[in-house]
Amino acid sequence: MTEAAVEHVDILIIGAGPVGMTLHLALAAGGQKSLLLDRRPRPAGDGASGSSTLGVRQAQQGDPRALALSHGARELLEQINSWPTRAATPIETIHVSQKGGFGRTLLDRKEYELPALGYVVRYRDLAAALAAKLADDALLDDIAITGITPAEDHVTVALSHAGQQRTIQTRLLIHAEGTPDDDPDVKVSDYVQHAVVCEVTPTPGHNKRAWERFTPDGPLALLPLGDEYSIVFTLPPAKADAVMAMDDETFLATLQTQFGQRMTFSRPGPRSRFPLALRMRDTLVKGNEVWIGNTAQTLHPVSGQGFNLGIRDAWQLAEILLENGVDRGSLENYAASRRLDRQGSAFFTDRIVRTFSNDFGPLKLARGLGLLALDLCPPARHFVAKRMIWGARAWP
Ligand SMILES: Cc1cc2nc3c(=O)[nH]c(=O)nc-3n(C[C@H](O)[C@H](O)[C@H](O)COP(=O)(O)OP(=O)(O)OC[C@H]3O[C@@H](n4cnc5c(N)ncnc54)[C@H](O)[C@@H]3O)c2cc1C
Repeated sequence: MTEAAVEHVDILIIGAGPVGMTLHLALAAGGQKSLLLDRRPRPAGDGASGSSTLGVRQAQQGDPRALALSHGARELLEQINSWPTRAATPIETIHVSQKGGFGRTLLDRKEYELPALGYVVRYRDLAAALAAKLADDALLDDIAITGITPAEDHVTVALSHAGQQRTIQTRLLIHAEGTPDDDPDVKVSDYVQHAVVCEVTPTPGHNKRAWERFTPDGPLALLPLGDEYSIVFTLPPAKADAVMAMDDETFLATLQTQFGQRMTFSRPGPRSRFPLALRMRDTLVKGNEVWIGNTAQTLHPVSGQGFNLGIRDAWQLAEILLENGVDRGSLENYAASRRLDRQGSAFFTDRIVRTFSNDFGPLKLARGLGLLALDLCPPARHFVAKRMIWGARAWP
């Protein structure tokens, strides 16, 4: 049997999710070629043409997640012409409260002189908007990786594609394949919570307001999306089992009990669930391999930080590679430059989940006082809001 010729590329990216595609497009904008690999077929269509008002029925196909994107993420996506304008719903205010306790705070875009605090986009619309900007030869889809062999100055990746074995040698291998399975380099802290995701129609309309409601079971988030709310209902696994099995009427009644009576909900779409854990990779760089996005860190979705952090990974890596080229120094620079942002975001998110997901009396009181203090003290409120709008650029 004859061996297939070895192909050579400077930069190979495994994973054409939103983070991998952002990196590829940011590199391309600076004149650097890279090749994307993905085991899924290329995302179809153009998210930019997706209407934000098609509502619940449209969400029945594809990835069910809706992502809250920060204003900072929008600015980066605009630079690579991938902002899905018509698929994005602005968030003008965020209401934060706890079930069965006092205290609440309201973040308002007007205080920051921005058109929105953030935006809500369906995962699949974002993926489609990015995919629409890829050149035909940018992505090898429907592949299966069969081996990764690191060497001193390159990495060799073996894969099968359309029934053929191929071997690609690269100077730099970037991992953007999303949440890792068991891996000794990744520390896992299980939240023993699952996110149940669903879209519902609110009455009256959402008025571009997002809600974050802390309940003893876990946070409940309502994100405005077209005319609907995308719900992220965080629950212990057994309760998530029960919620997944409910008929629509019982599900709506359960949601109503957790949320309260300020709005009513109807027309629930299909439900999906995601188990939640904090996964942090110890080292971002090993030899000629780099890990970015969810492969580097997978966070709880409570404050909508995951993709917002991943896009900053991609952007920072592209900037360093474009400025300094592909060498070990660039990679070490990259790892050092991401430390504060990823650890700060993981800590911020983890503290929120652990402080708010319980029914312990004194903590409930402290949480109420905290929410009240945030509401009464603009500098503290701005500190939280700026982290959500800008991420690391707002540290310390
Ligand atoms: C319920 C929920 C709600 C969320 N809400 C928010 C939010 O509001 N805001 C926010 O910023 N983030 C949110 N997140 C997090 C966000 O979804 C992730 O941070 C983001 O999707 C990470 O993008 P990624 O490209 O790194 O990984 P992924 O989106 O997982 O993409 C990985 C890609 O790699 C491919 N791949 C995987 N393995 C292989 C392989 N072996 N070979 C080839 N290809 C492979 C996959 O097919 C996929 O295309 C949420 C997450 C969940 C679960």
